[in-house]
Amino acid sequence: MNILLIGSGGRESAFAWKLTQSPLCSQLFIAPGNPGTAAYGTNVNIKVTDFEAIKQLALEQGIDLVVVGPEEPLVKGIHDFFLADEQLKGIPVVGPQQEGAKLEGSKDFSKQFMNRHGIPTAASHTFTRETLQDGLTYLASEGLPVVLKADGLAAGKGVLICTTLQEAETELVEMLTNAKFGEASNKVVVEQFLQGIELSVFVLTDGNSYKVLPEAKDYKRIGEGDTGLNTGGMGSVSPVPFADPDFMQKVEQRVIIPTVEGLKKDSIPYKGFIFIGLMNCAGDPYVIEYNCRMGDPETESVLPRISSDLVELMKGAAEGNLAEKELVIADQVAATVVCVAGGYPGEYLKDKKISGLENVRGSMVFHAGTYQDGEEIKTSGGRVLAVTSLQQDLFTALQQATLDASRIYYDGKYFRKDIGFDLI
Ligand code: ATP
Repeated sequence: MNILLIGSGGRESAFAWKLTQSPLCSQLFIAPGNPGTAAYGTNVNIKVTDFEAIKQLALEQGIDLVVVGPEEPLVKGIHDFFLADEQLKGIPVVGPQQEGAKLEGSKDFSKQFMNRHGIPTAASHTFTRETLQDGLTYLASEGLPVVLKADGLAAGKGVLICTTLQEAETELVEMLTNAKFGEASNKVVVEQFLQGIELSVFVLTDGNSYKVLPEAKDYKRIGEGDTGLNTGGMGSVSPVPFADPDFMQKVEQRVIIPTVEGLKKDSIPYKGFIFIGLMNCAGDPYVIEYNCRMGDPETESVLPRISSDLVELMKGAAEGNLAEKELVIADQVAATVVCVAGGYPGEYLKDKKISGLENVRGSMVFHAGTYQDGEEIKTSGGRVLAVTSLQQDLFTALQQATLDASRIYYDGKYFRKDIGFDLI
């Protein structure tokens, strides 16, 4: 089959690597892709939200399956676009329709969904400009710290953890009346702060049955020891040692089953990945967020642990027969270290020549923010490369990924040397 993969990050590089291992995949096209995905298929320079250009490509290349990497095209309705088009509607798409993508696209929607279906999550209230005064009264009655969340997509920046009442009041006013996060903060979810340790659980569903993929933990802060500003993610590991069978059983019973059943009860069709951000609070799981796609850099650690054919699984999800498909998870440990550009997550260096990729020996390198410039590969994004090692134990995987990250060179390169070591 001819597969079209939408996206251009480290996640899509990992997908391209895994999809092309399947005997079912005859040709892979990636829109727009990067130099990493070009090693596995044909990059086509199309924006992920240019649905008309994606349509042309799908028809020209006889695409049989579409895999959507990032959230933006899903929230903007790429799956609905395919279903509504006479020529495209027979092509299966992995990724929810717009209604299902609201689980990520609107935090108010996802909180209402969780509350309606009895899924454990932090207590919360949602406020708008009209109910600002009620919001301020609510804040005064709540404990500290308190979490303020812009309702819509805000590139991972719309969540504020406020430690003083004054800060919380100022931020709520800023978000609601001064559009601090634009339209995304037209509504604000004010949420109780949960104390615990985070992990990410991934589910693939056809809307009826589901498969629980390997879980992962990611590291969001720029600095070692989890300090400094938030980033898109500086590294990840899978499996997560504290996600033991007892905890994962609770996750399945209390979160995954009610989520899949809840979608059915609400008549929300959902064929694709559900990324569940969880807090382990003294052994009990609470949902922090849903995302309607795989995580980045978690995918880079999750996919190497899947031994089965991912195309079979995705076809199963898209065609509604996932229950018949097999999911085998390798017993090995994957660790991913992300190399970023100097200055990131602030203003960062670009157009720096990357060298030393050929010196990487015990890891896979997934490209994220890179581009081809003649014979050279240069940096273009904040997160430049993800270096993943798959080994028998966590320590060896971390050591190898860190060593291989140090073998790559570009001006201003930075990576965290402590990813995952808190779990050993
Ligand atoms: P992402 O970049 O992961 O998509 P987001 O902007 O969608 O993030 P959330 O994942 O909801 O926002 O929150 C971002 C981070 O804030 C979480 O990873 C977590 O560390 C913290 N956080 C969110 N809600 C809570 C909570 N109720 N209690 C404690 N920490 C929280």
